[in-house]
Amino acid sequence: MARKKPQRTCIACRQTGEKRTLIRLVRTPEGHVLVDETGKRSGRGAYLCADPACWQVALKERRIGRALRVTPSPQDLAQLHEYAEELERKHAEEPSQA
Ligand SMILES: [Zn+2]
Repeated sequence: MARKKPQRTCIACRQTGEKRTLIRLVRTPEGHVLVDETGKRSGRGAYLCADPACWQVALKERRIGRALRVTPSPQDLAQLHEYAEELERKHAEEPSQA
């Protein structure tokens, strides 16, 4: 397959999206898993839609660790869950633009 511009694929629903609609997760050199809101951190990255449903799937099925080839620490996971909950709150407040 020919490589064109980098495609970003949500690790939960497998849909490709524009950069702004996907949230980047990064594995830091120390082996932590963080939400990379700037999209500029170096390290292995994975993408999830800004859709809480995708986060639930990814967290439940441990897809983040698999995509980043690391086992997230309990603290990392707690932060990811927190981020997912925040998305859920935002999602509830704002009408969907989909
Ligand atoms: Zn998705």
